[in-house]
Amino acid sequence: MSPTWPAGPRRVLVVGIDGVRLDLLPSLHTPHLDAVAEAGFLAGVQVDEATPTMSGPCWATVVTGVGVAKHGVFGNHFGGNRLDVFPDFTTRLAAVHRRRTFAAGGWEPLFLARSGGPLFAAPGRLSYIAPLEDTPEAWEVCDERVTSEAEYVLGRSDDDPQASFVYLGAVDETAHFLGCGEEYRRSVETADARLGRLLAAVRGRAAYAEEEWTVIVVTDHGHLDGGGHGGRTDLERTAWIAACGPGIVPGGPVLPLHHTDVAAHVYAALEIVPDPHWTLDGRPFTPAPEPVAAMA
Ligand SMILES: [Zn+2]
Repeated sequence: MSPTWPAGPRRVLVVGIDGVRLDLLPSLHTPHLDAVAEAGFLAGVQVDEATPTMSGPCWATVVTGVGVAKHGVFGNHFGGNRLDVFPDFTTRLAAVHRRRTFAAGGWEPLFLARSGGPLFAAPGRLSYIAPLEDTPEAWEVCDERVTSEAEYVLGRSDDDPQASFVYLGAVDETAHFLGCGEEYRRSVETADARLGRLLAAVRGRAAYAEEEWTVIVVTDHGHLDGGGHGGRTDLERTAWIAACGPGIVPGGPVLPLHHTDVAAHVYAALEIVPDPHWTLDGRPFTPAPEPVAAMA
């Protein structure tokens, strides 16, 4: 029987925005991402040599905390994966630690038993909202509904997910259809406005004053100017992570970051020491809290 851990005041929200180029962020109006960065950091991440610059493997690495050699997601078909051995944090926290968790978004293999998925096998609450078409416009509608759903869940105190992942996909879809021009830039700014609504829902919680929230915003890969990714150019390989919360010193961290660090930090933020058998490849953005001494 696995131990049941006390809930405590810690909460984590991870917002995954697909395909946002780091180099364009300074020229865009993204006040909510800027606020996260100012309270903590925003730093570039290079997709490692072993990982295709594709959404499937990159998101699998982000939420499992292990690389492709372990989770086995090498493309956007998730078949042959080893996610049963290396689960995403929402599934592991629910199964092992009895934590309430939540995952929401509109990309099938993350949430459904389609294309070899799902990546999110068994969070405490799962919201899949299908885009009605495979177009940028339909994906904006999808992300809008995902955001409304997540606002509702995050704002409540009864369901009270302690660790959540919210996926926004319209930015990536826009780049694939239209390249990284004006429409793409507006889509990034729209995603930032949705991030702002999620943060407002968190701040509006009845128990917010007693809670300690960690917010992580992350993208999976970049895009070529004309739209597209999968290759090894710097534009495709460059992703980023922004985060703020307990233990994150504004301006830090100084070490090079990796996608695997996101899940590692989720566990650390919840004051959970990873079991060595999980063989996480990542490390928290900041050192794990010292375990409380059992005896004086
Ligand atoms: Zn992607």
